[in-house]
Amino acid sequence: MFEKLSDGLQNAIASLRKAVVVDKKTVREFVKEVQKALISADVNVNLVLEISKKIEEKALLEKPPGLLDRKEFIIKITYDELTSLLGKGEKISIKKGDKILLVGIQGSGKTTTAAKLAKYYNKKGFKVGLICADTFRPGAYTQLMQLAEEINIPFYGDPNEKNAINIIKKGLEILKDKDIIIIDSEGRNKLDTDLMNEINRIYKEIKPEHVLLVLDGTMGQLAGEQAEAFKKSCNITGVILTKLEGTAKGGGAISACKSTNAKVYFIGVGEHIDDLEEFNAERFVSKILGFGDIEGLLEKAQEMEIKEETVNRIMKGKFTLNDLYYQIQEIKKLGTLSKIVEMLPTGGIKIPKEVLEMQDEKLKIYKYIMDSMTKKEKENPEIIDSKRVKRIAAGSGRKEEDVYELLRTYKMMKRYIKIVTDERKIAGLMKKLGIGKI
Ligand code: GDP
Ligand code: MG
Repeated sequence: MFEKLSDGLQNAIASLRKAVVVDKKTVREFVKEVQKALISADVNVNLVLEISKKIEEKALLEKPPGLLDRKEFIIKITYDELTSLLGKGEKISIKKGDKILLVGIQGSGKTTTAAKLAKYYNKKGFKVGLICADTFRPGAYTQLMQLAEEINIPFYGDPNEKNAINIIKKGLEILKDKDIIIIDSEGRNKLDTDLMNEINRIYKEIKPEHVLLVLDGTMGQLAGEQAEAFKKSCNITGVILTKLEGTAKGGGAISACKSTNAKVYFIGVGEHIDDLEEFNAERFVSKILGFGDIEGLLEKAQEMEIKEETVNRIMKGKFTLNDLYYQIQEIKKLGTLSKIVEMLPTGGIKIPKEVLEMQDEKLKIYKYIMDSMTKKEKENPEIIDSKRVKRIAAGSGRKEEDVYELLRTYKMMKRYIKIVTDERKIAGLMKKLGIGKI
């Protein structure tokens, strides 16, 4: 996700770091690379120029504050400018008793997002109810009902009732013991007055605390125009951008919404029900710049009841084969390795593909192999020579090749996890820059 943008920005930072002197030319080259990355993410050209101007102006003229050297200062300016481009500090505040109405055109992802949101808030400890108020599209009722069943969320809808307001009122009555109600509404093929009228009618009668516009993020900066149109005709309080996992235009979609003053609160990053993330510009920028999302990692760990110790061990690079063995389950709970790695502060260092793409199946095989190792071998894999490999392979019923592969993967992971958490290089810099918490 956001790979192109992220690669472009991280390359820009890497070249800046390598520069011998920081002069006008260095800054210009840095800014050019940042521009290229932003434009390839479909960020509006005027916005890109605005940002580059600010970075360029401040980079050489202002005095770096505190302990920062000139290069770190330029990274910090870039971080600040990017977060404000994407909507710094905007967070949705949901409380008990709130009603969330989802609006948007057909196919944008409303129904799917309704279920994702229900699960998201349910996991946070809220009692959630879902209402299907889409009387326009046949099949809308069944679609949401099935999703609700899948995630075990109370649901109300009535396929025979044609008046959405009657359905919502009845649903609110039936689900009145719930903390949050999420209402899925109708969409049309395009923005039209019928759709706006319907949304306004529901809004006036039901007075939802939140009206979230669901927009297909693959539109890139065009999302801004849709947000603007909806803002003009009805009372939207924020935006959810969907389908961002498969598009290079995510940056454009987010920044365009921000520039029309529509706050992006969530992003949809896949078809699965868990593929929803609360959007936070600071964390997002930190991640795409390669500084990781430590908060996100800890949050995720907490959600899944993973011991903070496990996270700390990973962060500190204390990752012995023995740890891999005992904590394999724990780590797997965190999601695929690539998701973990995305959240780690890599500071522009590339993680090898083999590590990123390690599958559960592979981990299982590794586990069998490790079962045939002695405690000493697991703690100190360096002692494993060809003789030991033979024994381990025979004991675990796997090929010697598999054992070598495990050792290689282990070494690679250890090296990279160590690099990414190198106190001096990354954590220290993050602390100095005031980015994230570590
Ligand atoms: P609605 O018409 O606005 O209610 O849209 P739906 O919820 O029915 O979604 C339309 C299509 O978009 C479905 O195939 C969804 O699976 C898909 N979809 C929704 N959100 C996402 C997302 O974040 N990523 C991807 N890849 N697909 C999504
Ligand atoms: Mg729908």
